Amino acid sequence: MTDFSMDLNEDQITLRDWLHGFAVNEMRPIAAEWDEREETPWPFIEEAAKLGVYSLEFMMNNFADKTGLSTMIALEELAWGDAGLCMALMGTTLGVAAIVANGTPEQQMEWVPQCFGTPDDIKLAAFGVSEPDAGSDVSSLRTRAHYDEATDEWVLNGTKTWITNGGIANVHVIVASVDPSLGSRGHASFIVPEGTAGIRMGQKFKKMGIRASHTAEVILEDCRVPGRCLLGGKEKLDEKLARVREGKKASSQAAMATFEATRPAVGAQALGIARAAYEFALDYAKERQQFGRAIIENQAIAFKLADMKMSIDAARLLVWRASWMAATRKPFVAGEGSMSKLFAGETAVKVTEEAIQILGGYGYVREYPVERWHRDSKIYTIFEGTSEIQRLIVARAISGVHIR
Ligand SMILES: Cc1cc2nc3c(=O)[nH]c(=O)nc-3n(C[C@H](O)[C@H](O)[C@H](O)COP(=O)(O)OP(=O)(O)OC[C@H]3O[C@@H](n4cnc5c(N)ncnc54)[C@H](O)[C@@H]3O)c2cc1C
Repeated sequence: MTDFSMDLNEDQITLRDWLHGFAVNEMRPIAAEWDEREETPWPFIEEAAKLGVYSLEFMMNNFADKTGLSTMIALEELAWGDAGLCMALMGTTLGVAAIVANGTPEQQMEWVPQCFGTPDDIKLAAFGVSEPDAGSDVSSLRTRAHYDEATDEWVLNGTKTWITNGGIANVHVIVASVDPSLGSRGHASFIVPEGTAGIRMGQKFKKMGIRASHTAEVILEDCRVPGRCLLGGKEKLDEKLARVREGKKASSQAAMATFEATRPAVGAQALGIARAAYEFALDYAKERQQFGRAIIENQAIAFKLADMKMSIDAARLLVWRASWMAATRKPFVAGEGSMSKLFAGETAVKVTEEAIQILGGYGYVREYPVERWHRDSKIYTIFEGTSEIQRLIVARAISGVHIR
């Protein structure tokens, strides 16, 4: 048992300070440029890999922290540096989380290193669930996986949309239906290795925020992957399907298992954006003079900053609690993972909006970073489950009622 402590240990402090320096030196100076360019920031990813921020080892070291806090501390600092650049590094971990949540130990050993590559040969991963007609309603996926017994291959067909690193990733993890009559209980996750025929990028989306992160459609046309690319293996899938068909409960749903594990990490990134905006607005309010005094001397401004700080601290407590619960294997009985992502995401939107208000016209123009932080923040109430879906999860968990 790892007791919860608000005192960071030496390793956590070292990690936080190292990444804060990385954010200050490697992210802040280039953030506006990559937001404008709206392209994958390869030189930045390469630099991050060289410095050990984009690597399997970095992820494993953070995961190894039994308190669960290291990953949260790391993500808060990176998103404080810039959320788009942070997502350019972290998009890969969505695919990795899917492999870890659903793959056998052998599959994890084989595929997870391939998601990162090496500093000289960078690789990316992607996780594809969402489809044009299946966003929040994951049960209605149309992408199908059909098993070809003669060749021991799975054949994937369908269109995925809004996929981070979609089409540029070296390893795609694709969630598809093997039995549409079973809804989400008939889903399975498949690795699509680099160089596989039948997978291609569709349109690349132009976005409001996190523009340094690539988001695109992924089109699968008779895309054949070897049988061993089914995460968890065929025996386990067949057993699960048999249980579901008999009316018994399935142990897990492929996509949901991944999202549940990654929600506090998404909340930690939202927290980083909120903190960036709050700190900037606080400094600005002390400097900016109107009517012969600093604008912070007006309660209307000072109270905003008090509320911003309070919400950020509350969000951090929820994020750390959820991550600690996950790391110490405490079940999320009241949707604590969802709560953390929901509260942190909405805090980021609110705090960045207030920061714009505190900066006035300077908050609205691109010369200052605050408008970018507001644009970046909005995605945190949408992806990995919208705020409404998070509320649904919490409401169902606390009530036991199947609220619609
Ligand atoms: C930048 C970006 C990156 C993304 N990255 C990925 C990725 O890497 N992999 C991936 O698989 N997906 C990814 N997504 C997809 C994302 O997870 C979905 O956009 C999200 O789940 C919402 O789905 P939707 O957009 O279809 O909205 P919809 O599901 O159509 O929802 C529209 C609105 O209806 C509300 N709504 C829907 N159902 C209910 C309900 N039952 N009760 C109350 N309200 C409801 C929603 O909350 C929302 O407000 C990404 C999206 C974006 C924009």
